[in-house]
Amino acid sequence: MNEINERGFYDEKVLPKKHVLLCPHCRQSEEYELTWLVRRKRARPPQGADAATLAKFARAQSYMVRREDVIACQNVRCRKRFEVEGIQSVAYMQESATGSIEDRAARLKAAFGRKV
Ligand SMILES: [Zn+2]
Repeated sequence: MNEINERGFYDEKVLPKKHVLLCPHCRQSEEYELTWLVRRKRARPPQGADAATLAKFARAQSYMVRREDVIACQNVRCRKRFEVEGIQSVAYMQESATGSIEDRAARLKAAFGRKV
């Protein structure tokens, strides 16, 4: 299955979210805004999809992917770059859940957004 077909499964949206992260260099905790690419599964499969694509669409789930792997420390005396740890890079979203993406993101944050 190629990427073009899979992209037709989702509506994409960039969602900023705040996370508290600990810099491993200076040990200072700060709040950082990370951006997530939210891929919300569409209600219908792509037009003209073949059987294999339809089967794949049936299994597809909404999910979000963290876009930043490395960020720069906010401490002006440090400013070193460090890897984002302690936050999942991919989170799946419950299809049965109602409400907006933001509501889902808040719930995901409650479930996965633990401090480092
Ligand atoms: Zn630092």
